[in-house]
Amino acid sequence: MAVFGGIEAGGTKFVCLVGSGVDDLRAETSFPTTTPDETITRSIDFFKSQGVHEKLHAVGIGSFGPVDLNPTSQTFGCITTTPKPHWAHTDFSGRIERAVGIPVVIDTDVNAAALGEATWGAGRGLDTIVYLTIGTGIGGGCITGGRLLHGLSHPEMGHLRIPHSLERDPYPGACPFHGDCLEGLAAGPALKGRWGQPAENLPPDHPAWTLEAHYLALGLVNAICTLAPQRIILGGGVMKRTVLYPLIRREVQELLRGYLLFPEITERIDEYIVAPGLGDRAGVLGAIALAKKAVEQAPEGTSVRTF
Ligand code: ZN
Repeated sequence: MAVFGGIEAGGTKFVCLVGSGVDDLRAETSFPTTTPDETITRSIDFFKSQGVHEKLHAVGIGSFGPVDLNPTSQTFGCITTTPKPHWAHTDFSGRIERAVGIPVVIDTDVNAAALGEATWGAGRGLDTIVYLTIGTGIGGGCITGGRLLHGLSHPEMGHLRIPHSLERDPYPGACPFHGDCLEGLAAGPALKGRWGQPAENLPPDHPAWTLEAHYLALGLVNAICTLAPQRIILGGGVMKRTVLYPLIRREVQELLRGYLLFPEITERIDEYIVAPGLGDRAGVLGAIALAKKAVEQAPEGTSVRTF
């Protein structure tokens, strides 16, 4: 059975995993994200300790971004303009590929999570899904017609511009680029900035959650109208507050005003906007799924294809 490596590269933590799939995980490690030199070296050392040449067919990386995913670009596989200290313009996938000597596939953390969910989680059997994470930032990944969505770049759904009533919510927003984009209004730092305390301290009946659901629903309606997903999966730390799911579902229905008369939305919205089937493991399992899919879909005579 083919075995793969996966890296979930987060802004605060790296998780590295070896296995063939969700039911066959063989080794795992995690460590804090420090400098690129130290963090990438620790990842390489872990895969080498697992016998990359004898055992692993490919390594998948789901990375914080932005990442250059244009295969014709000179900086393909590099982190680009991140404000994270030391990481801007880091050659990430190339460096790992040269060190381990097997194919390495890279995508965003949220695209990887979307693929993980489509392969083993809440998106199984569907070919068009959106995965959004709502935590210290907001990111969105998308599979459309069975393929991860790339184009000019990867999706940047956290920075969707949404209506913001200063009368209802005078908080100016926390995004350093846009102020009151979706991430600026609805990620964890915005909750803390607006209400003066961390989201985890706010009780379930606090008005924060109605407003939060309103902003997230506005973002989801944009995703529904542009990408036509068959299901939307919401993960990340903020979504641990499960009171949000019913509030978001109701608000999405209200915002759509009966325009999209699909039973998925009008009758079965509990199954349409859902939590990740893989829980907190969507990202790292998605990284394994990236490697697995690239090897399985490799054209005859090659070892791997990017997609
Ligand atoms: Zn923004």
